[in-house]
Formats: sequence, C-alpha cells, structure tokens
Amino acid sequence: MFDSGSTAMISQENGNDPRQAGWRAFDVLPAAVCVVTPMGEIRYANPALHALLGHPVPSLVGTLLSELEVAAGTAAPSGSGRQLRRRDGRCLWVAETATPIEGPDGTPLQLSVFTEIDEWRRRELELHNRLLMREALFDTLPVPVFVKDVRGQYADVNSAFERYTGLDRRDILQRTAFALMEPGSAKVHAAHDRRLLAGEGEAHYEEPVPVADGSLRMASLSKVSFRDSAGNIGGIVGVIHDLIDSQPNEARLEAILEQSPIGVSVSRRDDGRIVFVNTRFAELIGLPRERLVGSRARDYYLDNHQRERVLERLRAAGAVVNMEVQFKKADGSPFWTLFTVNQAIIQGVEVNLAWIYDYTERRNMEEALRDMASRDPLTGIHNRRSFMELARQQLARAHRFHEPLAVFVLDVDHFKRINDSYGHATGDDALRMVAAGCQAILREYDLLGRLGGEEFVVVLPGATADETRVVAERVRRYLARMPIPGPDGRFHLTSSIGIAGLEGATDTLEKAIHRADLALYRAKHEGRNRVVVYEPGM
Ligand code: GH3
Ligand code: MG
Ligand code: MG
Repeated sequence: MFDSGSTAMISQENGNDPRQAGWRAFDVLPAAVCVVTPMGEIRYANPALHALLGHPVPSLVGTLLSELEVAAGTAAPSGSGRQLRRRDGRCLWVAETATPIEGPDGTPLQLSVFTEIDEWRRRELELHNRLLMREALFDTLPVPVFVKDVRGQYADVNSAFERYTGLDRRDILQRTAFALMEPGSAKVHAAHDRRLLAGEGEAHYEEPVPVADGSLRMASLSKVSFRDSAGNIGGIVGVIHDLIDSQPNEARLEAILEQSPIGVSVSRRDDGRIVFVNTRFAELIGLPRERLVGSRARDYYLDNHQRERVLERLRAAGAVVNMEVQFKKADGSPFWTLFTVNQAIIQGVEVNLAWIYDYTERRNMEEALRDMASRDPLTGIHNRRSFMELARQQLARAHRFHEPLAVFVLDVDHFKRINDSYGHATGDDALRMVAAGCQAILREYDLLGRLGGEEFVVVLPGATADETRVVAERVRRYLARMPIPGPDGRFHLTSSIGIAGLEGATDTLEKAIHRADLALYRAKHEGRNRVVVYEPGM
C-alpha cells in the first residue's frame, strides 16, 4: 500500500503523465509544433516554434495563439495560410496542419504543426506576375517574335509572327524553316541557327522571308541563343524587322492593337481624355468606341482610392505593372483587372498607354475560396479564425464609441452521450441544428462562431451582460425545446451558457471569452442547462 502510494505521488510530481511526456518528444523536432486548448491557449510549444517566432523557450506557453496572429485585413490574394507576428515585429506566413488530440485530463486539444511559407509565398506571387506579364508582352508585342528549340524547330511564335507570315501557330510549331520557305533561304537561316546553338552569341542578318500575301519580303533578323535553367543552351529567340515597312504606320499599329486580346486605351496626359481604345476595351466597358473616345479615363475607375494609387505609382515609378484595379462597366457593374500603364509620346503628345486584362472570373474564384476558408464546413457559420477577426473589429468599435458589448460561450451538455447513443452523423446533425437555432434567435448583427467541437461563441455588439442574459436564456430555451431527428426517433439536448460583458477600455476579446468560459464552467458545475453571468472570483 505504502509503496504503490508513494510511486504514484512521485510520478505526479515529476509531471510524468504519459501524454505530457508524449508532447516532450516534439522538443527535438525541427518542425514548429504546439498544443492549444479550444480557447486557443498554448499548452505546449516546442523549441522550433519558439525559434521560428523569436521567443525564448518556454515563454509561448500560456499565451493565446490568436495574440501571435497578425490582425484582420491582411489576407493574401490567394487565400490559404495564416500570418503570425514574430517577437521582433516581422510578419511570417505559415501553413498550419491541425489535428484534434485529447489532453491528459481528457479535454479536447489541438496539435498544430506550422510550416513557414513566407519566402515561397512571396516567390509564388512574383512568379505569377512575371509569367502573366511575359505572356502578355510576348503576345501583344507588335513585332514578329519566334522561339526555336535546340533542334532548330519552332517552339513558340507570337501573334504578330502569325499575322506577318500568314501562318497558324499550330502549323508552325515543331517544324523547321524548311517547312515554311524554299530551301535556299531555309539553308541560310539554318546555318545561323547551328552556329548559335553550338555556342553563345547573337546573329544579325538580312534575308527574304515569306509573308502573309504569299510573297517574299526582305527582312532583317536578330537572333540570340539562350540557356535553360540547367545552364545548357536551350534554343534561340528571334525577332523579324520588316525592311520595306520598318516604321509601323498608324493604320498598321492600330490593326495590331485591334487584335490584342487585352483592352488597350491611350489617353492624353494633359487632360486625361481618351484618344484611342481597341475593340476589346470597348467590349470590357460596354460602350461603343465613339462614346469612349473623348471621355475621361477617370470615369471608368470604380474606386477613387484605387485611381489615386495608380497615379501615385505612375508619378513615382513612371509605370504601373499588373496592378489589381477595379473598373466599372457602362451599366455600373464592377470588374477586376490586371492593369498596366506605360507613359509614352505618340506623335509629340504625352500619353498614358493602358493595358487592361479582365480577370473577374479568377478574382471571384479567389473570393469564393477565401469565403470557404472563413466558414466552418460543418455548420456554415464563422470558423474560429474568422470569428476572432470580425469580433476584434466589433470590440475595437465598442471601445472607440464607448458602447457596451458582451460575449457568450455556449457548450452543449453531455454531447459525448449524443455521439455515443446515436452515432457521430446524428451528432453532426445536432451541431448543425444548434448553429441554426442560435442564428434564429440572434439579431442580424450579432456574430456567431464555432470555437471547435460543440462549443459556440457569440458577440453581441451594443448589449450589456444583463441584456445578453435575456438573449442567452432565449437561446437556451429554444435549443432545449428543439426536436432533433435521431435513428430511434426525436430527442432533445440542453446547453450551458457563460456570459461576460466588456470591462474597461483595455479589455481584450481573449480576456472576455476567458471570463465567459469561467462562467460557463460554473454553469456546468451548477447542474448544466443554465445561463451564468461572470462575476469576479469565479
Ligand atoms: P459537458 O456537458 O461537460 O460539456 O459534456 P460533453 O460530453 O459535451 O463534453 P466534452 O466537451 O468532453 O465532449 C464534447 C464531445 O464532442 C467530444 C467530441 O467527441 C465531440 N465532438 C467534437 N466535435 C465534434 C463534431 O464535429 N461532430 C461530432 N459529432 N462530435 C464532435
Ligand atoms: Mg459539452
Ligand atoms: Mg466542450
């Protein structure tokens, strides 16, 4: 008796709980790992996470994960990942993999593994912009350009090349000069290609090339070999200058711009009036060209702030490249574009040359993805992260205008029994119905989120703790009366609710939720199925 008793005591003093000890196994992992409570409090963080965020070990333990998170409004264009703030203030993009685990006392916890994606993210965006720009440039360049591979076969040609030669890209690719022209000329081109592919260098020479009307035209060719990513010679890029008509006249330039898949407009810099638009631009805005020419470019911006940002950047850098700007159509509907502006002088007039690439579809998809990322997939209400973001804004507002605000935390009573008795799928249905039930009672501007498991949280802007008690009672009663379909007929559930009002100008969302949680525990202890307002000393 004595022996076994003292053994138990020793192991307790050493904190030798097998699961606690289990976490310590993460100490040596190079990946950043932490264990958090459903309230977001860090129970354990390994040295790699401390190092990643620049905190001394074990100072992260006991803090809230949300306090490390960069506040709202910083979501990146492509959605996934979250942004954490290092101790030195620097922001860091991380990808999080979360797994639910059980704590030593049976409480649900979450194991999170973070991977730094900051550099990857920046590069991804950069690369994306570069590729788009390069693609657009290559294809809208009003000069015939071609790319050949190491065998001297055409690997790519731009639209200007197609127009110049009258050949379809699909008929050219993977063929050599011999397929496009008579052998005499083809031999000359091939000889230059061989020399360039054998070593580095450039070639400039004149030779007749076949053109769209079927004739041969004297042209000047510039070719240069390039290396692939492995450092080997990867092929040749060539440009054709037409010698007979080397100064593109206005009609030709217009014809070229006309066929551009990108909206083009030219506006005078002195008065902002549009002097030229191509068909695509007119299509995008939804007005005939005659109406557009003579109108002001500023009239098509949706948002004056965006226009000012464009102008600012034009002043500072002389150009704007692939900026995300919203324009509006004649009927007022907005569309997203990648907007590029260059300054130029055409016939002695200073102009802005604008290229508008419509990417509304893509943008809509991104927004849908972002929306999905902010919703709890089971119930469709705000997930923890999105709730915290929006709730923090409400809290800041309440502080600013000295208005009351209260939060309540709701936890379904004996939820485990529902899962155990009727199965997990019925448990899921019950959770969906609890979320819908809360929403039915709450006001439109109350904010409802799922904290995790069967725990929900609500922020009631403008409500005191006492007013919130009335609402919470209504929610509790409504849920208790709500019949839930199960495998053996309908059943009922009850819930417990803890309430906390905002306390003073320095109160935070985390503190308020923590107090509501303490009140919730009191409600559970007092027998469940009840509402308790937080009081000091709980
Ligand atoms: P108490 O009255 O003390 O709150 O008892 P409880 O059984 O509700 O307490 P506990 O928080 O320990 O149990 C919550 C259970 O909820 C544990 C977990 O299996 C279950 N659960 C968590 N998330 C989900 C979910 O998404 N779907 C289902 N069906 N069950 C879930
Ligand atoms: Mg519960
Ligand atoms: Mg719970």
